[in-house]
Amino acid sequence: MREYKVVVLGSGGVGKSALTVQFVTGTFIEKYDPTIEDFYRTEQFASMKGLYIKNGQGFILVYSLVNQQSFQNIKPMRDQIVRVKRYEKVPLILVGNKVDLEPEREVMSSEGRALAQEWGCPFMETSAKSKSMVDELFAEIVRQMNYSFLPEKQDQCCTTCVGQ
Ligand code: GDP
Ligand code: MG
Repeated sequence: MREYKVVVLGSGGVGKSALTVQFVTGTFIEKYDPTIEDFYRTEQFASMKGLYIKNGQGFILVYSLVNQQSFQNIKPMRDQIVRVKRYEKVPLILVGNKVDLEPEREVMSSEGRALAQEWGCPFMETSAKSKSMVDELFAEIVRQMNYSFLPEKQDQCCTTCVGQ
């Protein structure tokens, strides 16, 4: 069986753990043990993030659609991915989570869609709470990763040729 290395990135509290746990176990966690980023806020974490990105093959970039700041924070993360991967077409999905909190929405669907269009990647609005679009999200990232197989191989080929 092929292994898919998916990295879920986004500010604290946007629902990265909740989305992952919902996908894997089918349950919603109201309160989850703080994950590693809560303990490593310093450079140590910054370098760990770089390592995650380096090893990752597919990226889910999550913001909370009830938190405009979390949407702003996502842009430098995508820049870092492209920088580390040295490749514009990295398998990536932009996700606005917490769509069940519609009355408190701070980020319009059109804003998310426009950013995803600029990046040439899919865009989804999800809810880890009501399990809206969660399975679809993970299915889509796997699809993206399968598509990207070819360019990745070509990249490796080119690198080898240059090195010789
Ligand atoms: P992380 O820091 O990105 O891993 O965020 P968590 O998964 O720990 O979620 C932070 C808080 O937001 C928790 O209290 C979750 O229960 C809540 N949360 C996560 N996803 C959703 C969602 O889709 N809807 C609602 N209403 N709350 C959510
Ligand atoms: Mg977490």
